[in-house]
Amino acid sequence: MLKIEDLRVAIEGKEILHGVNVMVNPGELHVVMGPNGSGKSTLALTIAGHPRYEVVRGKILFDGEEITSLGPDERARRGIFLAFQVPPEVKGVRIIDFLQQVLTELKGIDPAEAYELIEERARELWFTEEDLRRYVNVGFSGGEKKRLELLQALLVEPKLLILDEPDSGVDVDSLSVISRKIEELHKKGTAIILITHYGRILAHIDTDYLKVHVMKDGRIVRTGSKELIEVIEREGFKAVFSEVE
Ligand code: ADP
Ligand code: MG
Ligand code: MG
Repeated sequence: MLKIEDLRVAIEGKEILHGVNVMVNPGELHVVMGPNGSGKSTLALTIAGHPRYEVVRGKILFDGEEITSLGPDERARRGIFLAFQVPPEVKGVRIIDFLQQVLTELKGIDPAEAYELIEERARELWFTEEDLRRYVNVGFSGGEKKRLELLQALLVEPKLLILDEPDSGVDVDSLSVISRKIEELHKKGTAIILITHYGRILAHIDTDYLKVHVMKDGRIVRTGSKELIEVIEREGFKAVFSEVE
């Protein structure tokens, strides 16, 4: 479903990704790990079509079609959703209006029906009707921001969900509801790319198929199974990298 070939990406002329290859089939769960600055968010934002990230070589295919030069809106329409590492604050835009618009544009759901859907899903992620009238992410805690990203993902039900550190800056209770919702989407058949520093979030996610990619300096240097996470948690990235060098 997603095929990334020899992807090289630059920001403001500086190459950050130096040839990344990834293949994700429908419904698969891929975990991306790696030290800070290794290029995880760059990869996520490039797949989602962020205009700042310039593809200097290679290509991204989705559902058999090249999407490398498509804008983020078109990618979203095709079923790609990115939950940001740092969700942006949008002053003046209320959550409910934003979500209604997303559902109307992406799924063709009329506003009244969208409202019911949003309210129901919001409750599952501990947002009240009152919360939904707040501005998007303005004054939100880490846990609230990440729960709101998950709420969007649940409503959109994308084919491919990219989660950039959904577990960072999050309280334990939020973490448990977030991982349950990730599992719910996974069970429904959503393919997931999960960027994380911790195996903790995976403890709650029951899966038959899990692939782990480890990034270093703009490259995927190791791909393996769940055991790789245990090695990293026990011995750090060094243990993984020393085998490479
Ligand atoms: P990670 O998510 O793995 O921590 P990033 O993808 O955020 O890594 O960053 C990879 C590298 O790209 C880092 O060296 C970072 O400084 C650089 N970088 C990321 N975003 C920008 C940007 N907007 N402008 C310049 N450099 C950037
Ligand atoms: Mg980082
Ligand atoms: Mg990052």
